[in-house]
Amino acid sequence: METKIYKLDHHAIDHEIIEKAAAALRKGELVAFPTETVYGLGADALCPAAANKIYAAKGRPSDNPLIVHIARWQDLLYIAKDVPEEAEKLAEAFWPGPLTMIVNKNEKVPYETTGGMDTVAVRMPSHPVALALLQESGCLIAAPSANASGRPSPTMAEHVAEDLNERIPIILDGGEVGIGIESTIVDLTEEVPMILRPGYITGEMLEDVIGEVQMDPGLIAEDSAVKPKAPGMKYRHYAPKADLKIVDGAKDAVISAINALTKAQQEQNKRVGVIGTDETAALYGGDLILSMGSREDEDEIARHMYRILREFDESGVDVIYSESFATPRIGQAIMNRLLKAAGHQVLMAQQNNGGSEIV
Ligand code: AMP
Ligand code: MG
Repeated sequence: METKIYKLDHHAIDHEIIEKAAAALRKGELVAFPTETVYGLGADALCPAAANKIYAAKGRPSDNPLIVHIARWQDLLYIAKDVPEEAEKLAEAFWPGPLTMIVNKNEKVPYETTGGMDTVAVRMPSHPVALALLQESGCLIAAPSANASGRPSPTMAEHVAEDLNERIPIILDGGEVGIGIESTIVDLTEEVPMILRPGYITGEMLEDVIGEVQMDPGLIAEDSAVKPKAPGMKYRHYAPKADLKIVDGAKDAVISAINALTKAQQEQNKRVGVIGTDETAALYGGDLILSMGSREDEDEIARHMYRILREFDESGVDVIYSESFATPRIGQAIMNRLLKAAGHQVLMAQQNNGGSEIV
């Protein structure tokens, strides 16, 4: 199948293109489109055959449910069995925006969309292209991230094309996304609302609006027998081709530890990648050094992470050492993704008299 890529300027959206994409969705076809978090791969959420095409195109396990995107509050009422009062408060505070809420579904939502679950994940995106597509199509749009399963989420249309070229008919190219990591997921079917996936909207931001919120124990447990509640979080999402390790500790100790590790690898003829920041990139001696941005700007770090991981996959390095990014606000969301990509390999660097050591 030929994949058509249409460029859109979000300040002046070409309506003819949106109409074409909306018509494809209504016919049960797939359309990739930008949202403020990452690119989504959309299908009519209420049509089982359309939802099935998403799993096929991505190679996604069929028990991993999709997020249903809506443009109006009434659309949530249309598909939810019951709407907890927290949903209304959170929608008021954060929609349209990067927050996904889980509620009990009614019979209008097919099990194909929810991966067999009796609950449904719902989000109202704020990206103007996503909203235009929702409004024009009149569909509720089921859309997971528009990557092939096992690859980093796409933050640019080029990434979607890399993974899904000739597997989907339409990609709407709205440029690089603003946030760069997937939405926060909060489960409102629990007694105490539970964060199933950390994101740009933090636990504290949710608590300011609805009071106590808990973190899914499966996300923090060291014990791998405690499974995360969001089916998608149990898969080892994405592993880079190279062996990725995170080096944590005080700044100077991390820099000298990464340089020592790099040298040891290079002596064995290994090619080494380093993930640093604008403040540190010039201080490393690896074969490919990429900066996540300034450490002062955690939004920039979140936005660049997936693109950088893709660049390393292209580059053919054997090992990657990354600084740690437990930044104040969205650090938890950034580290959740980076730790998964690293298979939780974290080295602690400590300064000693001669330089640094891994402890
Ligand atoms: P993606 O759209 O690729 O970010 O994936 C959607 C994420 O939402 C996956 O981690 C899913 O497991 C999760 N999700 C979707 N629906 C539900 C649900 N009903 N209950 C729990 N997690 C869900
Ligand atoms: Mg995904």
